[in-house]
Amino acid sequence: MKTIKVNIVTPNGPVSETEADMVIASTETGEIGILPGHIAMVAPLQIGALRLKKDTTTVNVAVHGGFIEVRPDVVTVLAQNAELATDIDIARAQRAAKRAEEQLQAKADKLDAQLVELDLKRAINRINVHNMK
Ligand code: ATP
Repeated sequence: MKTIKVNIVTPNGPVSETEADMVIASTETGEIGILPGHIAMVAPLQIGALRLKKDTTTVNVAVHGGFIEVRPDVVTVLAQNAELATDIDIARAQRAAKRAEEQLQAKADKLDAQLVELDLKRAINRINVHNMK
């Protein structure tokens, strides 16, 4: 079966360089499934999961925004932060979610609230991806 190369890159370096049968990504306009031979495209990503399917296994990655570039034989994800599910520190994500929820309840000013909502989204994404099978 044909595979597609997948590179996930952050400013801190590569997070994963692997091959997949199929990639599922959460773009700003919805979830897309990418198979080898997909037409070239670039799309902005949501704070969400990237799922790499290979044979009977799935590798899940928490991706915090950024872009996906698709070419027929390679998918590149460029994001400020991305973590493999197995690298996620669940206790840290739970602490971050709790802190953000408390800050939102304290009703910070509008700009702060937007930043804290993003903190909360990242923490929830990490918790969800950590719990994915
Ligand atoms: P925290 O408040 O816990 O620092 P954060 O959302 O502010 O979370 P980021 O600014 O998104 O953290 O990320 C900073 C660095 O820490 C990045 O390298 C990111 O991959 C890593 N990171 C953040 N939270 C976790 C986590 N729960 N598990 C593993 N790595 C994490």
